[in-house]
Amino acid sequence: RPRVGVLALQGDVREHAHVLAALGAEVSLVRRPSELAQVDGLVLPGGESSVIDKLSRAFGMREPIRDAIDAGLPVYGTCAGLILLADRIVDGIEGQQTFGGLDVTVRRNAFGSQVDSFEVDLDIPVLGPPSVHAVFIRAPLVEATGDGVQRLATLADGRVVAVRAGSLLGTSFHPEVTGEHRFHRLFLDMVDARLS
Ligand code: GLN
Repeated sequence: RPRVGVLALQGDVREHAHVLAALGAEVSLVRRPSELAQVDGLVLPGGESSVIDKLSRAFGMREPIRDAIDAGLPVYGTCAGLILLADRIVDGIEGQQTFGGLDVTVRRNAFGSQVDSFEVDLDIPVLGPPSVHAVFIRAPLVEATGDGVQRLATLADGRVVAVRAGSLLGTSFHPEVTGEHRFHRLFLDMVDARLS
């Protein structure tokens, strides 16, 4: 049974914990380095990336998370979590940092403000049918991907909204709020692959 942590500084922590538990993972909430050290994978939730960034520094979590990513810990980020995984961000607030690890450029709030949130059905080849009902809430967009970054999902106009590279997975949207479990399943497969 894989042990998966959800970074619990801010954001939709419960929703992720619920999906992971439903899929059979042993879930823990991670706020301290000692808690991070006990998990086989980590989810970075949706929320507000600049707040999670600040809190991660206040809690002494930034370096441990960066080190864990460097060491190959599987990490799945949704929305704010994807921003935190990106090596480069556009339109961050002043001084905003990311953990990095994912060789992408992400634009924060790429679709506008809260009122510009939207939902769309996406065909995602790596998951197969049926399509994913994707919810975008002040969502980021992946504007550029480096070599070795797989584009898992695009909007009808080709803009990239889900990526995977090595042990890192990121989506602009929130599978955890729609009962969509296949991204978390994919993530747990990545965790299992690293354990075996
Ligand atoms: N706009 C938020 C940020 O910059 C992300 C929104 C979300 O996670 N739903 O972090």
